[in-house]
Amino acid sequence: VSATPNQRRAPRIHLQSSEHDVRIEIVTIGNEVLSGRTLDTNFAFLARALEAASVPVGWHTTVGDGLDRIAEGLSRALERADAVVMTGGLGPTPDDMTRKAVATVLGRPLQLDEHVLAHVRERARSRRTGKLLPAIESQALVPRGAQMWPNPLGTAPGLLIVEKGKPVILLPGVPQEMEALATEHVVPYLRERTGLHVACFTLRTAGAYESLLHEKIASVPNGWPGASLAYLPSYFGVDLRVTVSGEDAAQVEAVAERAYEELRACVAPVIYAEGEHRIEEVVGEALAARGWRIAVAESCTGGLLAKRITDVGGSSAWFDAGFVTYANAVKVAELGVREADLAAHGAVSAPVAEQMAEGARRAAGAHVGVAITGVAGPAGGSEEKPVGTVFIAVVTPDVAAVRAFRFHGTRASIRERSAQMALDLARRAIQKLPLEAKLE
Ligand code: ATP
Ligand code: MG
Repeated sequence: VSATPNQRRAPRIHLQSSEHDVRIEIVTIGNEVLSGRTLDTNFAFLARALEAASVPVGWHTTVGDGLDRIAEGLSRALERADAVVMTGGLGPTPDDMTRKAVATVLGRPLQLDEHVLAHVRERARSRRTGKLLPAIESQALVPRGAQMWPNPLGTAPGLLIVEKGKPVILLPGVPQEMEALATEHVVPYLRERTGLHVACFTLRTAGAYESLLHEKIASVPNGWPGASLAYLPSYFGVDLRVTVSGEDAAQVEAVAERAYEELRACVAPVIYAEGEHRIEEVVGEALAARGWRIAVAESCTGGLLAKRITDVGGSSAWFDAGFVTYANAVKVAELGVREADLAAHGAVSAPVAEQMAEGARRAAGAHVGVAITGVAGPAGGSEEKPVGTVFIAVVTPDVAAVRAFRFHGTRASIRERSAQMALDLARRAIQKLPLEAKLE
């Protein structure tokens, strides 16, 4: 795959210098988090974003909603950390006590802030909640000296208080709001204070297990001073993220450049995208580049493949139809699958997958047909075809192929992996690449 210069160049992040490193404490607030009912995704998001920016996180604590708990959490954090990021409890309801607790600990009484009030009013108006409730305006009561980062998605803004040189940052608990503020303001702000230069890039792979990638990459990263390589596995494959940091901007840039070339060379056959690019976007672009259209037939993914393809804006330019066919009779009637093959090989088989792909392509008058048939479980497996057995077929004007997979995991993960590998097979066929993800 020849990447565009834009994709090829690693997204570089350059930082300003300052004298000292900061170590961060993240304090998440909420009884629902403390009880385990709500997973602490705010922590996970912040920690990952800060790690990617080479801002060291030293501690993570979670405290309940009580005034004392929050105050204690902040006091402890201020004793050991150089900066504190807190999430949750900024809302207008009585269980939202973060601003009050912070005011008490820092000895900065709550004051009405006109800027925050204007922001809160504007946000409330844009949500058309009608009359502004006094409770909502209480969000404009902030500890003295707080600066505000406007919240693009909600009423509670992010707040920054610099206490004796230590930043104390308050963010709303709602994950999307927290994430928007963190990405836009908090991470860049803290990064500037670390005094390091950072460059990072991500190569996204599908079709090779982490252990195989690791074997292939082996000791290559040893030659990249100041770099760390993270293997990030998910249903979608394994993302390889390299972060280079150091005090010398030119060296960081040079190491990142070399790491990029060397890592690509190691695993080129399984890379489907870079950065945040998703495989369904790659498939859409590949179809658009050829002027081709696609149709899909699904048996164990219930429409997930069609959903993924049509998640991409503008996909009606290349997506013709999706057939979700579970009953054999419908496979025969709608897709022209041969009854004899269903009887001889079963619905989960290579010949049926091929005929489904061809049938979808023919029925929709599309250039490309892709089909999935498999056993997602938990029931329905047999000795010959255990749960996780999936056949994926692709037909284009140039090639027709079917591949057999044996996925592990739950029903949900087998379905996700099936859709992902179907997209990868489609991408390979449309881009005229080898259909098998071979790392050797
Ligand atoms: P609100 O204005 O909605 O009251 P808030 O800033 O007071 O916002 P919370 O009340 O603490 O935030 O939480 C709002 C929502 O965000 C809840 O649904 C909660 O489950 C979720 N949430 C809070 N903290 C976390 C966290 N650490 N990780 C994931 N979700 C969280
Ligand atoms: Mg709340």
